[in-house]
Amino acid sequence: MSQDNLAKLECTVCKRITHYTSRNKKKLKNRLELKKLCNACGKHTPHKETK
Ligand SMILES: [Zn+2]
Repeated sequence: MSQDNLAKLECTVCKRITHYTSRNKKKLKNRLELKKLCNACGKHTPHKETK
């Protein structure tokens, strides 16, 4: 898998990058927004894709 498809997911609460995910740039234009477990917050929070 190419690193070009790697997206960072930033916790919207603490603004830390806590997850990485792969995505297809050609197919997805919208930013991802996912609920993920944030280790810094210690709970599930909304995460947004960042660069
Ligand atoms: Zn957090």
